[in-house]
Amino acid sequence: MVSLRDVHKSFGELEVLKGVSFDVRKGEVICIIGPSGSGKSTLIRCINGLSPIQRGSIKVREQEVNDPRLDKLALRKKVGIVFQQYNLFPHKTALENVMMAPVKVLREPKAEVEIRARDLIRKVRLTGKEDVYPGQLSGGQQQRVAIARSLAMRPEIMLFDEVTAALDPETVKEVLVTIKELAADGMTCILVTHEMGFAREVADHIYFTDHGVIVEHGPPQEFFTNAKDPRTRQFLSQVL
Ligand code: ADP
Ligand code: MG
Repeated sequence: MVSLRDVHKSFGELEVLKGVSFDVRKGEVICIIGPSGSGKSTLIRCINGLSPIQRGSIKVREQEVNDPRLDKLALRKKVGIVFQQYNLFPHKTALENVMMAPVKVLREPKAEVEIRARDLIRKVRLTGKEDVYPGQLSGGQQQRVAIARSLAMRPEIMLFDEVTAALDPETVKEVLVTIKELAADGMTCILVTHEMGFAREVADHIYFTDHGVIVEHGPPQEFFTNAKDPRTRQFLSQVL
């Protein structure tokens, strides 16, 4: 589904990604962990074509993301992204937020989109909140609306960038449950997270990044019990 080869990315003089390579197969869940500033968000944004790379290759379903001829809208449709800041439209209800992109961007018939949106709201366990405005929802509920909004575009791959980092501890779990269910349904997911218990439970593969390189990776059991690189060990000793 996703294939990265020797990806290099700089902001001016600052090289943020220094040769990142990995593959994600259909239905796989991979977690990217690592210290702040190691390039995790940049990596996620590059996969979605939000940020161009200078060298290497990123392919989403065999299509080169950095090909200038690539249909950006088609890519964004295929690859959903959810951020730490959910940025819902405050003057639109939960249902309207979920319906917005398919109706406005994809020009799909409203009635059809509404059926799908209501189903997605049920899926993220927010039945009954359809007509509520974001301001009346908890952070965790808003984040679940944001996930439903992303799913409304019917993506094949979902990217999550620290989606629980800004939430109150008591609402983190409900968001993780939503992601877990999505993964169990077979969605291909790339997650940046600091929730180690969650990563251990849902990930098929963990990547540890530091200073723009993948330092170490492996299946969770191995990664969490048998990390070899001193940087990984140091990081894990701080977060576990
Ligand atoms: P992480 O998500 O792992 O905390 P980021 O990908 O956000 O790391 O950032 C990696 C590095 O790139 C940091 O040093 C950050 O300051 C820098 N950076 C990120 N975005 C930009 C940008 N738009 N312009 C300049 N520097 C950036
Ligand atoms: Mg980040």
